[in-house]
Amino acid sequence: MSKVLIIGAGGIGQVVTHKCAQRPDIFTEITLASRTLAKCDAIAAQLAIPIRTAQVDADNVPELVTLIRVLQPKLVINVALPYQDLHIMDACLETGVDYLDTANYEPLDLAKFEYSWQWAYQERFRAKGLMALLGSGFDPGVTNVYTALAAKKYLDLVEEIDIIDANAGSHGHPFATNFNPEINIREVTAMCRHWEDGRFVESQPLATKRTFDFPQGLGPMNIYRLYHEEMESLVKHLPSIKKAQFWMTFSDNYLKHLEVLQNVGMTRIDEVEFQGQKIVPIRFLKALLPDPGSLGPLTKGKTCIGVIARGLKEGKRKQVYIYNICDHQECYREVGSQAISYTTGVPAVVGAIMMLSGKWRAPGVWNMEQFDPEPFLEVLDIMGLSTNVVEGGEWPEL
Ligand code: NDP
Repeated sequence: MSKVLIIGAGGIGQVVTHKCAQRPDIFTEITLASRTLAKCDAIAAQLAIPIRTAQVDADNVPELVTLIRVLQPKLVINVALPYQDLHIMDACLETGVDYLDTANYEPLDLAKFEYSWQWAYQERFRAKGLMALLGSGFDPGVTNVYTALAAKKYLDLVEEIDIIDANAGSHGHPFATNFNPEINIREVTAMCRHWEDGRFVESQPLATKRTFDFPQGLGPMNIYRLYHEEMESLVKHLPSIKKAQFWMTFSDNYLKHLEVLQNVGMTRIDEVEFQGQKIVPIRFLKALLPDPGSLGPLTKGKTCIGVIARGLKEGKRKQVYIYNICDHQECYREVGSQAISYTTGVPAVVGAIMMLSGKWRAPGVWNMEQFDPEPFLEVLDIMGLSTNVVEGGEWPEL
């Protein structure tokens, strides 16, 4: 009997709710709660089984505590926004419930994300015998698990990793983001950092560009280096890593729009005065852009997200590429969402299954690479995301 409370009825919340509802053997009672009740009800109406829905402001800890006390779930799956992470963790601590999320905490007024705020909860979770699993999406999430698999099975020592995220899909809009536009734009416009020789090296966002030949017919695409949160936990928990970089594909069209939006100030996160009212430009922009949840029927093509890990095996240099390919339209047929939401939502549910089944369970605050990768990847495959492994391929150093 595992009651679960999902918080956040956006693009990812839709996939998480669908996938939990597919496994009534594990998730015996599901509640979907969010700021806007109508969004929860719209998702609930798509399902073959009944679930509960609720309205909650996840920035209001007493409100969350009341809801959790009424529902008494075993686990809270947080797929609201990174701004809510600490409030939901506080409510979980107060009510004695386990916690899982897909993105690390980010303060609303500072475009900076790092794990320090959530790692600071370590002792409090441990003391109460509770578990928090951080970053159980795809990247972070599965990319951490792929790195752990490389370390467990394919390499004796992981020395370098390149995490490469390609979206070879198109949605037909001149400009749209595949997940929450505010979070997405804050992420890609932040200063770039990569790990080299024991420290993070800073560079201009998207200034480093390479071409990568993606597998299974996806072919060559431009990839751009940016900072991504899993590098912080990976270099901490796998200290043999000397170099870690994160790369993402962007179309020329996306980059052109982003540059103009930045130049005219539309990506600013501070308040500006407009006709006697205070507005935050990036939030206004979010209101104008297509809702990522609406891209499902339009998006065609595939995603390819994976990790190239290089290091030593039996004294010799070796590399391994571990990746997943996901088709936007197949995701839409299954759960009514495009592949970016799908590849994030499915690992969140698999992380939940790991916790509820006891395969991954320990009091404290954990990142994904700290657990055995193999049981996770077995369930991930069953739940719709398969893993490809190519040992010793010919990939250039990036
Ligand atoms: P959306 O904006 O589509 O959805 C977020 C939902 O959270 C909305 O329904 C919103 O409600 C709700 N919400 C926001 N604030 C509150 C609040 N104070 N109280 C209650 N509910 C609230 O975002 P996505 O679904 O695209 O993204 C969800 C999360 O997934 C983000 O944290 C994102 O960073 C993460 N993510 C992780 C990835 C990974 O691979 N690890 C990849 C992509 C995303 P309302 O609609 O009423 O505003």
